[in-house]
Amino acid sequence: MLCVSRAELFVSCFGLGFFILVLFVCLLSGNKPVLVKLQRTSCVLNIRLILLWSSEYIEELVQTNANGGNKLCEGTFLNPGSWGAALLAAGTTLSAMRHILHGHGKIAYALVRPPGHHAQPDHADGYCFLNNAGLAVHLTLDSGRAKVAVVDIDVHYGNGAAEGFYRMDNLLTISLHMNHGSWGPSHPQSGSSDEIGEGRGLGYNLNIPLPNGSGDLGYEYAMNELVVAAIDKFQPQLLVFVIGQDSSMVS
Ligand SMILES: [Zn+2]
Repeated sequence: MLCVSRAELFVSCFGLGFFILVLFVCLLSGNKPVLVKLQRTSCVLNIRLILLWSSEYIEELVQTNANGGNKLCEGTFLNPGSWGAALLAAGTTLSAMRHILHGHGKIAYALVRPPGHHAQPDHADGYCFLNNAGLAVHLTLDSGRAKVAVVDIDVHYGNGAAEGFYRMDNLLTISLHMNHGSWGPSHPQSGSSDEIGEGRGLGYNLNIPLPNGSGDLGYEYAMNELVVAAIDKFQPQLLVFVIGQDSSMVS
């Protein structure tokens, strides 16, 4: 796995083949998976929700849930149970990250639903309500780690993390994705290679759009020539991988 030997590695994985609330957190201690308890709401989680997302957006989610659910944006519905599932996913991801930050292991693997990598600071997008990886990054930076890198290999652009950290220079966001462009008001980012951050964050967002039909060799080339080179230059203390598993012949 990428740069494991010199960086703590945290893997946040959103298995798209499963549609259940939250499967489990698999914390790897050596080679042995360890099942840990799910984390739902906590004071820490609530505080981080407020810090990362606009209070209006969190209120919208809470109220929509209280009213039995509704459409939040094109294609994304908050159904009965969605909000509870989103909190479970977010809390579980934070729990996995704490496992690393507290020195209990080098790798943690959070396999959670719903996914989060399209969720942005003030709105839902692409079936995502809360950006689980973003929460984990926030927790990591708060712990004193100076630099963190996010690598997103989902076939769709990881626009949530990119948008949330677009103006920061202590976080490198990298996304490999199909060249699908913007898909509407909830997803204005194009994912093109010229979206490279702004202000202090200029140069700290690396988009790698891949042509349809890119296979293993295409990913391998992009990883070796672009991702590894960027990570080597940035020298993060911790890596967060967002591993949507929808890169396939039909995506
Ligand atoms: Zn996807």
